[in-house]
Amino acid sequence: MALTGLQIFKLLPGGKKEEQANCKKCGFPTCMAFSMMLAKGQVDMGECPYMSDELKEMLDKQNRPPQMEYIYGTPNKEVKVGGETVLFRHEKTFHNPPSIAIRLKSSDENFDSKLAKILSYSIERVGQEFHIDAVNLVNTDSTFVEKFKILADKNLPIILTSKCARRMTEALKEAGLIKPIVNLHSKSMKKIVQIQKKFDVIVVLSGDNPQELEEKSKQFRELGGQKAMLLLTTSAKNPFERIKNLTEIREKAVRDKNEKFSYPILSQVPFSFDKYYDALIGAISVCKYSNVIILPDVDEAILSALFTLSQGLYTDPQKPPQVEAKLYVVGEPDSNAPVFLTTNFALSYFSVVTEIEGLDKGAYLVVTDSGGMSVLTAWSASKLTAEIIAKAVRDSKLEDKISHKNIIIPGFISSMKTEIERELAGWDVIAGPNYAADIEKFLKKYESKFS
Ligand code: SF4
Repeated sequence: MALTGLQIFKLLPGGKKEEQANCKKCGFPTCMAFSMMLAKGQVDMGECPYMSDELKEMLDKQNRPPQMEYIYGTPNKEVKVGGETVLFRHEKTFHNPPSIAIRLKSSDENFDSKLAKILSYSIERVGQEFHIDAVNLVNTDSTFVEKFKILADKNLPIILTSKCARRMTEALKEAGLIKPIVNLHSKSMKKIVQIQKKFDVIVVLSGDNPQELEEKSKQFRELGGQKAMLLLTTSAKNPFERIKNLTEIREKAVRDKNEKFSYPILSQVPFSFDKYYDALIGAISVCKYSNVIILPDVDEAILSALFTLSQGLYTDPQKPPQVEAKLYVVGEPDSNAPVFLTTNFALSYFSVVTEIEGLDKGAYLVVTDSGGMSVLTAWSASKLTAEIIAKAVRDSKLEDKISHKNIIIPGFISSMKTEIERELAGWDVIAGPNYAADIEKFLKKYESKFS
């Protein structure tokens, strides 16, 4: 609970009746006025030179983010993780989508080809391009340091995993400007702390459950100081156990403001022969608060599903992704080309454009200014009216480009046909399919109108 103005006042010189009371050095006439502004967050606590250490500590604790935010990677490719402040996206928003890494053993005989696959992977969805963020290099033979150098040369963010502290140290000596995440599997907390302090890197603490993690985090903080950079990981294989653990960690960080849990979470999808299990654990990790996710391999279907899930969750609910409202020319349409209409909600736009791009001939797409809402939402919020549609069509100057006057509207708003035709004199409004995926099939029925 945030401190009230009165609670703050009681700990200031004015409240404690000390000689500096109401000295005005903070720019306020009284300590009470200053405390009220401080409680509202409208003034910095450093403005009062007589503030006690006790009050400073209380305010520091109150202002501390529930989860730390870190950057790892290379000077040219930085990856931000953590910094989340809420349990549920609708409370505010989530900030940094999970960083996706692929596990690669140093002894892997297909090291080069797997690395090439990692580097070349990309997928575009709703106007955003996704790549694999990092490689998790696992020490499985004496080439670990050499492989680390290869990855570093490729400018790749790296997560290092090793049971051997000596070999981990050798690799870190080669890190230069690269800031890897370090996962040292050691029973000795002192060794982990030493590495963290010596190389100023983010280190991973693992535990079977939140209770074990809390104890380890406490030990680490005692040995490593309050500014230690940590990631927390739990290793439950059972999906239900995993959900429970991940949720508990985030709740303790955000709801309880428990500093021992105020670190980003790393989740590992263990190797299995069951792709559905991998996809399930990956999806649980995305939904349940994991900030870094390590997958066992480059599986395009799983990656595509996880990036889709992550994009949906990490979009600010108060700022729907939108595209510019205007006329889009898709492909090379001739004067008989079909004309479609949709709203400027990015997902609607990209769904329609993807389908139109797949057609043999080009097409025109009129996008209305509907506040970034989808078709039905915009219609129910009066952001997709006959007037708005007519204006978008008139602004597009389509009449200079086509020889017909037919426009295909989404099937969901077919009831607006007469109204739109009244606004757009001379135009024939055709109710299209509800879903973009049915556009090709739909056009076959209307072939004569657009040829
Ligand atoms: Fe009170 Fe501190 Fe402001 Fe002086 S500087 S009036 S002691 S709050």
